[in-house]
Amino acid sequence: MISAIMPTYGSPSLAFERGEGAYLYSTEGRRYLDFASGIAVTALGHAHSHLVKALTEQVAKFWHCSNLYRIPGQERLARRLVERSFADTVFFCNSGGEAVECGLKAVRRYHDSTGNPERYRVITCTNAFHGRTLATISAGRQEKHTKGFEPLVDGFDQVPFGNLNEMRAAIGRETAAILVEPVQGEGGIRAASADYLKGLRAVADEFGLLLFFDEVQCGMGRTGRLFAHEWAGVKPDVMAVAKGIGGGFPMGACLATEAVGRHMTAGSHGSTFGGNPLACAAANAVLDVILADGFLPRVEKMGVHLRWRLEGLVAEHGSVFSEVRGRGLMLGLKCVPSNADVVQHAQDEGLLLVTAGENVVRVYPPLIVEKTQIDEGVAILDCVAAGFATPGRR
Ligand SMILES: *Cc1c(COP(=O)(O)O)cnc(C)c1O
Repeated sequence: MISAIMPTYGSPSLAFERGEGAYLYSTEGRRYLDFASGIAVTALGHAHSHLVKALTEQVAKFWHCSNLYRIPGQERLARRLVERSFADTVFFCNSGGEAVECGLKAVRRYHDSTGNPERYRVITCTNAFHGRTLATISAGRQEKHTKGFEPLVDGFDQVPFGNLNEMRAAIGRETAAILVEPVQGEGGIRAASADYLKGLRAVADEFGLLLFFDEVQCGMGRTGRLFAHEWAGVKPDVMAVAKGIGGGFPMGACLATEAVGRHMTAGSHGSTFGGNPLACAAANAVLDVILADGFLPRVEKMGVHLRWRLEGLVAEHGSVFSEVRGRGLMLGLKCVPSNADVVQHAQDEGLLLVTAGENVVRVYPPLIVEKTQIDEGVAILDCVAAGFATPGRR
């Protein structure tokens, strides 16, 4: 008989009861070091006092009123994101997939409104992940996500990630935009080089295309900058963010320049829940912490420490871990044994991780992680690796 929960997630057995900073406590009372962060969502760890206070205060006032009315918290959040980014304007929604959808619609609308309605196609990259809606699985075009859901939404072409020549060659008279993750997450923690991102900007300008970054996973401080593309000194025209933005409260946002956003006129797009007072209270509180003096440099510093420790694991356990990837606290370990087995064994030892493509395990501590907790996580990974390297020990 089918489970009451639709079986899309398999059937995990571990459940949690409460969290505190970088730790989660299972319903059986066991403590886990959480280097999964709910897939890069709980940026400030669990039960962060500032977030708890902000949300509790808003919960007692009111939660929702829809976008039929002004939402001062939403206005403030938008202003803060605009001040700290390339963007002039922000649309709020409830997930990463929706943020990408909004960007895709904005891209089409821009060309339609500026006299090029034939431009509707978007070029994406191999190993990309942009969400699970029909348009975003069509954009990501990974067989494991599209199988059985055809016909796909028309209007997407795909080229190898990191290859500018192939990108140029794929551009046609119907091309509207280039959509890229500055650091691919689900695809295996692959960071685009600064040269590649700069090259994409130049190609987009040359052909009159929009540059659309998907920072749903790599944005909101994960790499040590508020947005990952800042490392390359390149500005997109459109950007999707989500995951970390609400610290665990569901929220997404699509940021755009005025040139793009001004065509998203009243009535052209919308969301019932998007940017409601409760979500914006969460996101404003997250920003209070992330934008405070010294927070992002500290993320970068912790990222350097974690990378150094992970590289130590690769040096010591080359038969188990072959490579460290990523940037800041968005790091991945390429595995020799199956990454799912590594994640399972780490979980057995009290450390939560996430698998990614190309047989990588994601190591995503919360951005508030302490150095001693990084060392604690690495010690568990060391023990897991030793188990793999010594047949019979497991
Ligand atoms: C997770 C993710 C999405 C989809 O976000 P949802 O909130 O699951 O819809 C889109 N793009 C990237 C890069 C992601 O990592």
